[in-house]
Amino acid sequence: MEIMPVHMEPTRSGWYAALGDRSDALSLASDITCDYLVVGGGWMGVHAARRLGELAPEARVVLVDAGRIGDGAAGRCAGFAIDLAHNPRNKHFAEDRQGNEEEYHVNTEGIAYMRASVEELGVSCEWDPSGKYHAAATDRGRRCLEDMSNALTQIGKSHRWVARDEIQSITGSGHYHSAIHTPGTVLLQPAQYLTGLAALLPENVEIYEKTPVTGIEQLPQHHVCQTPSGQIRTRNILLCNAAYLTKCGFFPHTAIPVYTYASMTRVLSQEELKVVGARGPFGVIPAESFGTTMRLTADRRLFLRNVYSYGRGFQSRQSDVDHARKHHQVAFDRRYPELSSIGYEHTWGGLLTLSHNGGMVFGELADRVYGAAFCNGTGVARGAAFGKALAELALGQTSRTIDILNNRPKPTYGMPEWLTEIGVRATTAYRFFRAGKET
Ligand SMILES: Cc1cc2nc3c(=O)[nH]c(=O)nc-3n(C[C@H](O)[C@H](O)[C@H](O)COP(=O)(O)OP(=O)(O)OC[C@H]3O[C@@H](n4cnc5c(N)ncnc54)[C@H](O)[C@@H]3O)c2cc1C
Repeated sequence: MEIMPVHMEPTRSGWYAALGDRSDALSLASDITCDYLVVGGGWMGVHAARRLGELAPEARVVLVDAGRIGDGAAGRCAGFAIDLAHNPRNKHFAEDRQGNEEEYHVNTEGIAYMRASVEELGVSCEWDPSGKYHAAATDRGRRCLEDMSNALTQIGKSHRWVARDEIQSITGSGHYHSAIHTPGTVLLQPAQYLTGLAALLPENVEIYEKTPVTGIEQLPQHHVCQTPSGQIRTRNILLCNAAYLTKCGFFPHTAIPVYTYASMTRVLSQEELKVVGARGPFGVIPAESFGTTMRLTADRRLFLRNVYSYGRGFQSRQSDVDHARKHHQVAFDRRYPELSSIGYEHTWGGLLTLSHNGGMVFGELADRVYGAAFCNGTGVARGAAFGKALAELALGQTSRTIDILNNRPKPTYGMPEWLTEIGVRATTAYRFFRAGKET
């Protein structure tokens, strides 16, 4: 079966650009045979490849990505590895005690596996386990924080209220007037982590970048995957290619392709930092879900994320990025009017794979074809856990995480795509407007 071509984004991720010049990609240029082929080098794929390499050292494991590892959606994210990724701002969040415990179990396993990359393999990525702030700039935002605090109390998760002076001194911005701090989230430089881990994968893992799988033929002995310059015969396939999994014959028409966008400044000078008075690296999640996510990075860059848009055909255009950049400048000026003239060095978008029902893909989808996908907006810790567990499943292992993921609801086909598009466009526009100064 032929697979839809993977869209290459019009602009580079600022995180990826910050790594400096990269060596040329090694692409597949001949026919090969392997035991395991992992398709997609995002959070799921690199961790699946790592786990296969660790647990099956005699096997030949191949990881391919259509683009560069670190410059896909994974390396375009805000770099929050979140322990409780379910949305505590949701009204019914606290009612699902079992769901929350399971989510927490999966995500903390993902974070622990990532921590091991840092501590045992030596991956550098500005690993910062200082947690995250949920900050409000409006009365409405404050009410969202109160709901969130109640939900966290009900499920027994620790958090702390942060007063106006403190959040203003942490962020160096007079914009915020209250916040909640939750421990357990880790901040990192996502592109640095992904490229660093790719370079330190076990020796039996080979990587080919700029190598899209363009066709898959499922056969009794070896499946055959086509790439532009070589064929891969493989006993097992692990599909870790996010929304594109739904173009490989599984769960068709279930992915809602939503883009979100980020911008990053150049490195700030010490004098500029003194103007804003920020104490050091931090990560802020908006009190309102359509507000602005913000970070001050370890290398002193300001990062902002907001704006969602429908990505018809899983694509964003330069005009979408330009539109987001204008909103990012407004958000920047609200927070740091003194630094307004600095502008941004990079603006980029990345594809989120959402489902109508919050369902996710995990498991053996066909004979020796395994798949994990659907981050539903938060795929760093989840992705690491899903990838690790998928490799273990392919090797016949069992675990609590595998049980949890096997029992999760699968994505369902909701509405025709044209109707979904209208719905997403209307909802994102309205909620962005309603978020007001939280953006
Ligand atoms: C701006 C932004 C901020 C975000 N912030 C956060 C955050 O702070 N925390 C968080 O948890 N999540 C965040 N996310 C979401 C997060 O980035 C995703 O959830 C995550 O990247 C999903 O990981 P994945 O491995 O499932 O898929 P992806 O990262 O999308 O990786 C899939 C890979 O498969 C490759 N691929 C697809 N088809 C093929 C093919 N046919 N052949 C070869 N390769 C193929 C693609 O090139 C891609 O690299 C953010 C996203 C964006 C865009």
